[in-house]
Amino acid sequence: MNKKYFKPVFIALGSNLKNPVSQIQQAFNALAKLPGTHLVKCSSLYKSSPIGKIDQPDFINAVAQIETSLQPHDLLTALLDIEHQHGRIRKSLNAPRTLDLDILLYENQQYCDEELTIPHPRMTQRAFVLQPLLEIAPDCYIPGYDDINKLLTACSEQQLERIKTS
Ligand code: ADP
Ligand code: MG
Repeated sequence: MNKKYFKPVFIALGSNLKNPVSQIQQAFNALAKLPGTHLVKCSSLYKSSPIGKIDQPDFINAVAQIETSLQPHDLLTALLDIEHQHGRIRKSLNAPRTLDLDILLYENQQYCDEELTIPHPRMTQRAFVLQPLLEIAPDCYIPGYDDINKLLTACSEQQLERIKTS
């Protein structure tokens, strides 16, 4: 493998419909099968309470590290395609979902257009992203932001439980 073409990327996974644990485990497999992509690490699964729209089931969340030769927009298209294959229907912001796949970090790039913002704009305020990210990448750096441990401390009121899976 030519390292130069494979960029380190972190993906957030979330689900709160139709057997969320299985949705996340299947999504790890789907990430591993993306073209030009290697699955490097998967975090534990975490249970979180919904934020924003609270009358919906708890979420299962995780973070995966991949190395990919896909460019950011091609990767986003591929992730939206996996969400679609998992029956994702977009109704409204913060609505329940079978699968959500977000690009958290792409190398150390900072980028923003109408379709894509990197780093993901809400990742710094979400314990269900920061905790699994720190689990698999304790030395990780979010371009433009403070130390991740400090960001996580600021989210300490958010309910998050690491779950055991067989
Ligand atoms: P959310 O993940 O915020 O709940 P959606 O999954 O419905 O919302 O995503 C809506 C849009 O967010 C996507 O179609 C995509 O164009 C855009 N988006 C912007 N930045 C990112 C990113 N870093 N990762 C994934 N989607 C992103
Ligand atoms: Mg999303």
